[in-house]
Amino acid sequence: MSRTVYLNGEYVPEQEAMVSIFDRGFVMGDAVYEVTAVIDGKLWDFEGHVARLARSLDALEIQNPLDRETLLEIHHELIRRNPDFTDGGIYLQVSRGNAGDRDFVYPAADVAPTVVLYTQSKPGLLNDPKAKTGIKVISVPDLRWHRRDIKTVQLLYPSMAKMAAKKAKADDAWFVEDGKVTEGSSNNVYIVKDGKIITRELSHDILHGITRAAVLRMAKEAQMQVEERAFTIEEAQSADEAFFTSASAFVMPVVEVDGAKVGTGTPGKVATRLREIYLEESAKTAL
Ligand code: PMP
Repeated sequence: MSRTVYLNGEYVPEQEAMVSIFDRGFVMGDAVYEVTAVIDGKLWDFEGHVARLARSLDALEIQNPLDRETLLEIHHELIRRNPDFTDGGIYLQVSRGNAGDRDFVYPAADVAPTVVLYTQSKPGLLNDPKAKTGIKVISVPDLRWHRRDIKTVQLLYPSMAKMAAKKAKADDAWFVEDGKVTEGSSNNVYIVKDGKIITRELSHDILHGITRAAVLRMAKEAQMQVEERAFTIEEAQSADEAFFTSASAFVMPVVEVDGAKVGTGTPGKVATRLREIYLEESAKTAL
């Protein structure tokens, strides 16, 4: 069945959703995005995603076309209009719009941003078997630009990193810069050593994950120790546990880094507990 998607104020069948070839999102990657998890027809961590969307748009001086209430209404309307969709994510993209001929200079403020939202179904998302086995990662140099805190659609290098992982028969790639891990190709990363959760501090070097914020808050509430600092691949390999967080995988154990087993090579206690807590708490506040 064809999806109903949202494009610039209209709900249309996916085949009818057309964007101009002059759109700056298409020509220049001049666009930002968000992905909000949907479980049982409800939105997880919605407020965080709306707030980060505003920050990304602000950083790029793209006018924010929709307020929180309108965005929430569109998300809910998409869930209503796609009854087969109960679990997965809603993808949202705002580009600087169609400015006509290609020009590096931003167009005048009267060019309307292009707004697209659509559902992506992932049945059984909560019961991903990988959460039981853990995943394997390889490391690659972090060759991305230096404003990784802005969630832009410039995802070519993360795609290349994912392909490198796939070729190496791993599940994901961790980026390394100046000898330290920045983040995963599409997630924030953590190690656990002697009961302490260690994850890189927030800066322009990484995306400020919405799941990261929620998980760290919950870890502190559960009296777990958290240290925000960068770590090396060697530290990860000799850690007791490793894991990553993202809106599409929640809390995911990592059991191998560059061919070396982490801890026992099975999902660790802290990651498993944090996943349980995160799933439980997020379901309670879902919208
Ligand atoms: N870092 C990067 C590079 C990402 O692409 C993502 C996924 N959007 C994350 C971290 C995790 O962020 P979130 O928890 O908001 O999904």
